[in-house]
Amino acid sequence: MTTGSLNIDRARSAGRIEHDIETLAGPDYTRSEEAIRRYAYTPEYRNTLDYFIGELEALGFEHYEDPVGTLVARNRPRGEKVFGVGSHCDSNRNGGKYDGTMGVVAALEVCRLNEELGLDLPLQLVSFLEEEGSGFGQMLLGSRIIAQRVTEEELREGFRAIDDGRSFWEHAEEAGYDPGRWQEAVHTIDDLIGWIELHIEQARVLQDTDKRLGIVNAIAGYVHADITVHGRSDHAGATPMGFRQDAGLVAAECMLELERLAREAGRGTVGTVGEMELRPNLINAVPGEAQFSLDIRGVDEEGFRGVARDIAAFAKEAAERRGMTADYVQRQTLSATPLDERVVGALEKAAEASGEAYVAMHSGAAHDTMSIADRVPSAMVFVPCKDGISHSPEEDADPADAALGAEVMLNAIRELVAGKS
Ligand SMILES: [Zn+2]
Repeated sequence: MTTGSLNIDRARSAGRIEHDIETLAGPDYTRSEEAIRRYAYTPEYRNTLDYFIGELEALGFEHYEDPVGTLVARNRPRGEKVFGVGSHCDSNRNGGKYDGTMGVVAALEVCRLNEELGLDLPLQLVSFLEEEGSGFGQMLLGSRIIAQRVTEEELREGFRAIDDGRSFWEHAEEAGYDPGRWQEAVHTIDDLIGWIELHIEQARVLQDTDKRLGIVNAIAGYVHADITVHGRSDHAGATPMGFRQDAGLVAAECMLELERLAREAGRGTVGTVGEMELRPNLINAVPGEAQFSLDIRGVDEEGFRGVARDIAAFAKEAAERRGMTADYVQRQTLSATPLDERVVGALEKAAEASGEAYVAMHSGAAHDTMSIADRVPSAMVFVPCKDGISHSPEEDADPADAALGAEVMLNAIRELVAGKS
């Protein structure tokens, strides 16, 4: 089998992709007139799955939904090896047309091209349930269920709908699914010999460096934590500077130290204080307490975890120097996900052959691919989004870039499938 690079009719693919995206931005597919808003078990989400099912049936794909609603479609019987493509088609509650949906649409285009060009590649498209957490406040929920990274207790009781407070379990049953069999969702990835997810970048690196594609070789892990500094609240006029225990000053020192530590760690490590609360939060009171959040991410596991350890130690010392105390409490953490060298390499080779500008990069944001990458050799393709904007009706991306992405995915899959047979 030859794996010389194919050039597709990109303009035609871009036209089809644009048609899919614009159709799915129509009133039947969103719960809001101002934004894209669709999430698990709503009629608009159902319509979106049905749209994809219709297109895939036309290509001769068989399809099913896992016990909670992740859509799977394939052109080979179950049990035969297939290459996986897809993303998610739910949105943020105030979302745009492209986040997630563009990845499922690009995967559909790969399936169309496979058929049209008579390539006969074994393919499986997956559209993961509830990536954004808009229905139940749980990110990557469908793919975490596949990865068995949830408990039955969480599905039965813990995870509650944002709209009405009823359980995930109840909603899934009402939508006609069988959550009692949730553990069988693991079989969705049994036959996959590889996996590629296309997604908008959600940052402005590609746009600002004039690249049309990013080949993603790792997804950042993160630590989410809070630091609380305990000082003493005093009158802001009556208390001389030398008599204060101003918790806000320790918070300020920590913010600057976090910036220094993240820069020093390098390799794309980032650190952000996004929430900050001073108490009593009055113009004429010295803050007696300061609480702030930490979001620390990176693909170098030791690097970003080191930053978290160092900032926790720094906060304690900085507080002590001023006669105060500080505690550090972790909210949540997730390991970095390295992606597969062979799949990344095949994508880079295909991107090179496309003649378009691309760059190897990592993802700072979380994606469903994180849930399956330890079991399936995986990689991702990023396409630019205007000004890096996502999770907003202002989201904008170019179908021509997604068409280029589909071509690169198709060529990479051809090479990887040939290598397996
Ligand atoms: Zn997404």
